[in-house]
Amino acid sequence: MKIALVTGGSRGIGRAICTKLASMGCHVLINYLSNETEAKITLENVIKAGGSGEILCFDVSKSEQVESSLEKWQLANPEQYIEVLVNNAGIRKDFLMIWMENSHWNDVIDTNLNGFFFPTRYLLKNMIVNKFGRIINIVSLSGIKGLPGQVNYSAAKGAVIAATKALAQEVGKKKVTVNAIAPGFIISDMTADLNEQQLKAMIPLNRFGTCEEVAELAGFLASENSSYITGEVISINGGLYT
Ligand code: NAP
Repeated sequence: MKIALVTGGSRGIGRAICTKLASMGCHVLINYLSNETEAKITLENVIKAGGSGEILCFDVSKSEQVESSLEKWQLANPEQYIEVLVNNAGIRKDFLMIWMENSHWNDVIDTNLNGFFFPTRYLLKNMIVNKFGRIINIVSLSGIKGLPGQVNYSAAKGAVIAATKALAQEVGKKKVTVNAIAPGFIISDMTADLNEQQLKAMIPLNRFGTCEEVAELAGFLASENSSYITGEVISINGGLYT
C-alpha cells in the first residue's frame, strides 16, 4: 500500500486530497496544525473512501516539529516509506504592502514556503533511495500572476513554483517527480470571506471551483499515470488566467 502525507489535511483542499488518495488505495497521513476535530472528520472520510489513515499534528513551518514527528512515524514503521507528499498547508494574510507588518510577511512565508521545505527535505532521501516518489505542491494563481493585497502570499507561492522546477531537475533521474498545482478561486474556509457572486463574472467557467476538482488533479499527479510529467505547474482556475 502506498503511503501518502498530506499537509493541512484537516480541511478544504487537503481533506479532499486525502479522500481521493484513500480512494486510490493509499494509507494517508493527515497532517493538521490545531483543528483536531476536523482532522478526525478527514480520517472518517478516508476510511469511508476505502483507504486507511492516521493523524499527525505538527506545524509545517517549524523544522524541529516536522522532523521529530516524521522521525517518530518512521521509527514506528521501519519497513515503510512515504512515497507521496502533498505540500498543501497554507495561509493567507492579505494587506496592501504599505500596511503589511513583519508578522504578516513572516507568517505567510513561514507556512507556505518553509512549510514546503521542511517536510520535503526530510522525505526526499527515502524517495531517492527507493527510486520512486511523488511531490505535489499546492501553489496558487497568485504565485503565477501576482495579486494586489497578496505580496507576501504571491512571493511565497512564486518561490515554491521556482523550487518545484529546480527540485524536479535534481531528482528526476531517481524517478521522483515534483509538480505544482495552481488553483484559482476554490470554495473552502480560505475563500469564505470572498463574494463568489461578484467574482465569478471574471471567471470564464462562471463559478468557483471545488476542492474535489483540485483533488482529482492531485490524484492523477500522485499516480503512476503521471510518470512523464515533472517540473510542471498546472493551473486549475476555470480559465481565469492562463
Ligand atoms: P483552508 O481551508 O484554510 O485549510 C488550510 C489547511 O492548512 C488546514 O488543514 C490547516 O490546519 C492547515 N494549516 C495551516 N497552517 C498550517 C501549519 N503551519 N502547519 C500545518 N497545517 C497548517 O485552505 P484551503 O483553501 O484548503 O487551501 C489549501 C492550499 O491551497 C493552501 O496552500 C492554499 O494556499 C492553496 N490555495 C487555495 C485556494 C482557494 O481558493 N481555496 C486557491 C489557491 C491556492 P488546521 O485545520 O489545523 O488549521
